[in-house]
Amino acid sequence: TTDAPPAEDISADDIFIAVKTTKKFHRSRLDLLLDTWISRNMQQTYIFTDGEDEELKKKIGSNAINTNCSAAHSRQALSCKMAVEYDKFIESGKKWFCHVDDDNYVNVKTLVKLLSNYPHTQDMYIGKPSLDRPIEATERLGDKMRPVNFWFATGGAGFCISRGLALKMSPWASGGHFMNTAEKIRLPDDCTIGYIIESVLGVPLTRSSLFHSHLENLQQVSKSEVHKQITLSYGMFENKRNIINMKGAFSVEEDPSRFKSVHCLLYPDTPWCPPQVAY
Ligand code: UDP
Ligand code: MN
Repeated sequence: TTDAPPAEDISADDIFIAVKTTKKFHRSRLDLLLDTWISRNMQQTYIFTDGEDEELKKKIGSNAINTNCSAAHSRQALSCKMAVEYDKFIESGKKWFCHVDDDNYVNVKTLVKLLSNYPHTQDMYIGKPSLDRPIEATERLGDKMRPVNFWFATGGAGFCISRGLALKMSPWASGGHFMNTAEKIRLPDDCTIGYIIESVLGVPLTRSSLFHSHLENLQQVSKSEVHKQITLSYGMFENKRNIINMKGAFSVEEDPSRFKSVHCLLYPDTPWCPPQVAY
């Protein structure tokens, strides 16, 4: 419960936030994140991309990581990026690994609060499943095939893994192993993470309703609840905008993702936010 003392007194510095992106989205998606939530969490945020970009380096320096993975939207290219994210996290020595996409807003203050409930040495895998049942996959070991069922946290909503659990994942996730594991089940990177954790290691996914992807109806998140959420997203569904429902500092035309308005709600002292009385 909220009255219980935190299991561990962590700060944002204990979290490694990996943002997956691709060169073609640096201006259209990443700049918005750099201007909003990342601007308050520069030290904790690492951008995993697939091309050189001087403008990005100027903004975030060595926290912009060129994975040298292919810029294709293939399973292999995406697994290649996740593998680099994992290795960089292990190298960082931080307590928590959190992965998000470049269309996610991260409310780092709430994220810190959530993760404080658990010791980072315990096995923790936290996120939101995108399906209402476990995924049914086929594991290929040489010429042997076996059906496997497991839950996974959807990458597009963001998920977190404790260091204790991440270290146990190493034989299947470190170095080139992640790509090999992904090939065993031939599913996307976020499913591979779920496979390693639930199927191989037997650690269950801890569900949180505070992570949000654009696969869900974001209209259901209202302005009064924004403070409590950990991640938000935006996208299109059946040719209509799928965005959170809030009147804010900026109109939908000025701020189609709503992230600028969210940012002004969470950090009203931001210089480019209009005076608070205006909204
Ligand atoms: N992405 C990528 N390479 C690509 C296309 C997309 O790394 O060729 C990343 C993108 O930057 C985002 C994630 O993969 O972080 C999901 O992409 P998108 O939101 O376009 O697709 P979705 O799966 O959410 O429909
Ligand atoms: Mn997306």
